[in-house]
Amino acid sequence: PTIYFTGIQPTGIPHLGNFFGSIDPWIDLQNSVNPEIQMMLSVVDQHAISLGPLPADQLRRNTRQMTASLIACGVDPSRTLLFRQSDIPQIAQLSWILGSLQTTSKLARLPQYKEKQERFKKGDIPVGLLTYPLLQAADVLTFKATTVPVGEDQSQHLNLLGGLAYAFNKTYQTDVFPIPKQLTREKNARIRSLREPEKKMSKSSGGPRSRIEITDSRETIIEKCQKAQSDTAGAVTYDKENRLAVSNLLDLYSAITKTSLSEIDYSSWSTLDLKMNLAEKIDNRLAPIREKFEELENSEEIDKILERNGDAAREIAEKNLREIRRIVGFL
Ligand code: ATP
Ligand code: MG
Repeated sequence: PTIYFTGIQPTGIPHLGNFFGSIDPWIDLQNSVNPEIQMMLSVVDQHAISLGPLPADQLRRNTRQMTASLIACGVDPSRTLLFRQSDIPQIAQLSWILGSLQTTSKLARLPQYKEKQERFKKGDIPVGLLTYPLLQAADVLTFKATTVPVGEDQSQHLNLLGGLAYAFNKTYQTDVFPIPKQLTREKNARIRSLREPEKKMSKSSGGPRSRIEITDSRETIIEKCQKAQSDTAGAVTYDKENRLAVSNLLDLYSAITKTSLSEIDYSSWSTLDLKMNLAEKIDNRLAPIREKFEELENSEEIDKILERNGDAAREIAEKNLREIRRIVGFL
């Protein structure tokens, strides 16, 4: 059977990178694929402490806000099994098992590890930062997912995940795990930071002005667009080699208006026109999401969904883990 699985960390409110790279493609799938296909979306709160612990109340609030954000964007809990990772202890057990099939040197070579470890002094890097991809692999394999829709920044992790599924099957002479396939929508698979366009837009790195969050107010959107990096040339041209910042704004404009670059007539725009037009389009698109989010954020509905879906996901996970424990020799 085809099983779609993806995860998002409750490290903040989703930004336009998450929206175009992950959430919007997910919603398109949710609304178009055969209803028999299982769709699972995990708010991966255990991943959120891989850079170190957070205050408990903050983590709880972040998880609520992420869940509310996803629903506000159009995730339909009757169609997508939307759940909280930490409600499924089986995932951590599988992650431990996968660790026996992986080397530290391979994990330490992953680009995201290399990048994020730079925030720590040499002796201070948390273990979770290194083993993060094992937990991510376990997220997917616990549910025997076959297809993983994610943004382009996850390609290396998906390769590692495929390798682990293969290694497990080979070691134990089984075909228990399908080799999951990455699914990345080519358009807007990577949205760049508004302040440092060589980097991707991110929840947990770069300042608040580097990203537009889906709950930002109209004023904040306008301010962030105005202050987005551009260059000294007055006119707008699309040139990724030499004008990455301006090209990124055009890419965003294309994404938000769902029009291709060739259909946008920016010949008479100044970079300021581009920024103001972009802000207007972003605000139009986000206004209803913002409203829905405010309605949901503190509602009991969110708790109910997480509780109910946690039960459902745990049932699938336990069934699969029983099989895996037997294969490994724990049972
Ligand atoms: P963090 O900085 O805490 O890692 P993040 O912004 O990278 O946060 P994640 O929760 O790690 O977000 O990823 C959620 C999903 O969003 C993944 O599918 C990821 O590939 C996608 N994604 C993240 N950033 C971008 C981006 N800039 N452009 C496109 N997709 C993105
Ligand atoms: Mg990330």
